[in-house]
Amino acid sequence: MISKDKKLIFIDIDDVIAKTSASVLDLAKELFNKSLKHEDLTSFDLEKTLNLSSSEMDMFFKELHNEDLLINTPLISDAKISLEKIKEMGYIIYLITGRLPSTYDVTKKWLKKNEIYYDFLYFADKYSRYPEKKNESHILSMDKLSDISFTLAVEDSLIMARWFSKRKTKVALLDNPWNREKTGESIKRCHNWNEVLVYLQTL
Ligand SMILES: [Mg+2]
Repeated sequence: MISKDKKLIFIDIDDVIAKTSASVLDLAKELFNKSLKHEDLTSFDLEKTLNLSSSEMDMFFKELHNEDLLINTPLISDAKISLEKIKEMGYIIYLITGRLPSTYDVTKKWLKKNEIYYDFLYFADKYSRYPEKKNESHILSMDKLSDISFTLAVEDSLIMARWFSKRKTKVALLDNPWNREKTGESIKRCHNWNEVLVYLQTL
């Protein structure tokens, strides 16, 4: 059990600590010969952004979960050192990803390879796309997630930022072309990890 005086922080993985958008761009070029830049990724819906048919999107989604690709995903600048600083600030770090649960082992390997500090790693069905309800210990239901009181959630997804906002949890939203819609009061737009740390120090 975690003592009540400990502060908890939720941190997403893709495009928060892992530069997954770089893999998306590489894969779009490799599979469909589409040359796009980061700034072109203006929607969280890649089928729309990349203008793919649903079968192309299925293939793309499958390849995005390929182990070789995942293990070689680069780090987001300053993510590693920022997590270490957050630990020093006394936070319990929950890494919570919406990746498919089948990527649990490779995700753990990637975190180890990059020497990322964290206390817990969970998979949560943020986007209602998990194939079936499984009772694996690394899967956290969205109900259970909403029971945890985080001081801050660090996300790049507007869907999740709004989900937390509704539950009165503060969010640091890492600014990206796919999340540039207007946001509410409890969502702080941050342009890099340094801005997240500065914001966290005010909470
Ligand atoms: Mg993400």
